[in-house]
Amino acid sequence: MISLKTSISEISPIAKKLNSRLKKLGINTIEDLFYHFPVRYDDFSQVKKINQLIAGEKAIVKGRINLIENRRSPLQRKLLTQAIFSDESGDIKVVWFNRPYLLKTIKQGDELYLFGKVQSTYESLQIVSPDFEKVRSIEKEGGFLLPIYDLTAGISNKHLRFFVKTSLNFLNSLIDYLPPESRKKHKLLDLNIALKEIHFPSNRDLLHKAIVRLKFDELFLIQLKNQILKQKNKKIKAERINFKEKEIKDFVKKIPFKLTDDQRKATWAILLDMQKKYPMNRLLNGDVGSGKTIVSAIAMFNVALNGFQSAYMAPTEILAGQQFKALIHFFQGENLKLALFTRVEHKICSLINEKIEKIKKKDLLEKIKRGEINIVIGTHALIQEKVFFKKMALVVIDEQHRFGVEQRKALTLKSGNKKTEPHFLSMTATPIPRTLHLALFGDLNVSLIKEMPKGRKKIITKIVESSERQKTYDFVRKEIEKGKLAFVVCPLIDESDKLGVRSVKEEFKKLSQQVFPDLKIALLHGKLKADEKEKIMKEFSNGKIKILVSTSVIEVGVDVKDATIMLIEGAERFGLSQLHQFRGRVGRNSDQSYCFLFSDNLSEKSRERLEALVENSDGFELSKKDLELRGPGEVFGKSQSGFPELKIASFFDYVLVEKANQEAINLLESDCNYSPFKEKIKEFEEKVHLE
Ligand code: ADP
Ligand code: MG
Repeated sequence: MISLKTSISEISPIAKKLNSRLKKLGINTIEDLFYHFPVRYDDFSQVKKINQLIAGEKAIVKGRINLIENRRSPLQRKLLTQAIFSDESGDIKVVWFNRPYLLKTIKQGDELYLFGKVQSTYESLQIVSPDFEKVRSIEKEGGFLLPIYDLTAGISNKHLRFFVKTSLNFLNSLIDYLPPESRKKHKLLDLNIALKEIHFPSNRDLLHKAIVRLKFDELFLIQLKNQILKQKNKKIKAERINFKEKEIKDFVKKIPFKLTDDQRKATWAILLDMQKKYPMNRLLNGDVGSGKTIVSAIAMFNVALNGFQSAYMAPTEILAGQQFKALIHFFQGENLKLALFTRVEHKICSLINEKIEKIKKKDLLEKIKRGEINIVIGTHALIQEKVFFKKMALVVIDEQHRFGVEQRKALTLKSGNKKTEPHFLSMTATPIPRTLHLALFGDLNVSLIKEMPKGRKKIITKIVESSERQKTYDFVRKEIEKGKLAFVVCPLIDESDKLGVRSVKEEFKKLSQQVFPDLKIALLHGKLKADEKEKIMKEFSNGKIKILVSTSVIEVGVDVKDATIMLIEGAERFGLSQLHQFRGRVGRNSDQSYCFLFSDNLSEKSRERLEALVENSDGFELSKKDLELRGPGEVFGKSQSGFPELKIASFFDYVLVEKANQEAINLLESDCNYSPFKEKIKEFEEKVHLE
């Protein structure tokens, strides 16, 4: 029997033929097809008369092709398809480039809708490379809001519309898992109607309602899954780690600064979590520079006091090396042993004398296994390699907002006790509004650090045009003479140069030969060996190197106190959140820091984006702005900073987020008896189990 789970290739011979291409779009089943939402709609009800067109606008006209022919442009030898298009108000010229086969599709006398940009030439107006639809087929395909999809080679909008049309009657067999009372309470369309309307809207009102229903579903299902995970987590056993209050208080007194209130609260929550008999699952969220490391350090210290080991995972080798040092600094004088374990680096440090020693990998593995190391700092190598602990009870994951189930399992197997799971603490600077925490991380407990350490000055951010380049370099030189250090970040020049090695090399050459020939400058990129990277970072930290030219490898976490200048080349090529991360590399103490955004050809839109960065120092505000500025072309904000589960709903649908959350929790708590809903839960539990 055909159902929504049936393979797409069964709906028509064409779909069968295009099967592998459809797979590229993630469409395997009929259901996938329905959930491949349009990215926008062409509104064929807003037709303009030809004599009303204005240069520069994007418009739709309806009329008839009077003449169409292919020509070669004499100068550029480009192939042109030219047409004269008329309605009752007048004629206009239409041009397409390099599409000679159009003559096979469009014939003289055809009645078409054209959708494209109006340009003025010397003599008159013309429409350039418009999309087109036959009037008859639009009227046949139904509605004036025509869906436009994400495509791939060999699949056209027409294909997708045809497949959806052909599949519409399968929707009748779709059973809505959401109980009728819930639908009524939140005034939601039935699922099958929503799925029909999102592809072929009867009108704007129904389209809007369809979007609301589908957004609701996404948020609701995320929450449902989270709640199920949370319930499951409570059944898992973990080591109970006592909160050694006296020792912790003494330790906190020794820290060279005073913890902020948010740091205190987060630490407290973590220490209480770890006393429970099921694993902690907490997310520590705080903007760059808010001081997350020390919070995790206190947690790891408490674990060590209880006789257990901790694992700290950083996203890059540079960061692992740096956090190793930062932790050594915090723990000086304590009776602890720390180790660094990455793919290429293996070191230990006994905090009694703070001596760092290189050690053979084999010997380090042995020490970890015998329980001689209290805290192992590393990269993903901790998961990938044969690192086995004697008694490991806490995993800290830096700069990641969630830990994969697979990775969790792998670490549990290495913890030394297969009957318990370690406690998990993830740390992230990803700016997420409070309402969304519950929606996205309902299975985690969240601590927020909103308050920055005292005494930090606002980083002065400036957009620098080419004419001001030299002035800025002079300023940088003066600061360096005062003992300050500078970062220079470069974007990728071309796609083939994935690590951006070429562009940093050029910049490095320019700066070291022409601009600052007398200063020590170093180059950092992803292709360098770990020990080279480390040497460079060390010499930069202690001020031997004055300027560090780098690719975006320094994006997260790097902490160099005397670095007060961040200079970003080609700033318009980076997203706002990423720029904010770069900027977070400076301003790490009470000195005035600066961020210079270099951009040689700035479009109006890019300028607006960069200005948002100049005006704003709040990561969350910036990510919101980024989304707004990404433009009206996209109806639905996709790919939102690493949350693929949100295809259509957005971070900023506050009200809906709230409603969907409540409804999911209510239905679970009230043991809802509606059988399609219960089916859905069963399906989820199986999925969660399989993961
Ligand atoms: P992030 O949250 O980005 O990981 P870090 O933990 O690297 O931030 O902290 C940034 C810098 O601020 C570090 O040099 C750290 O020692 C310092 N720091 C952390 N907490 C405080 C505080 N309460 N007062 C002053 N400085 C602090
Ligand atoms: Mg950090």
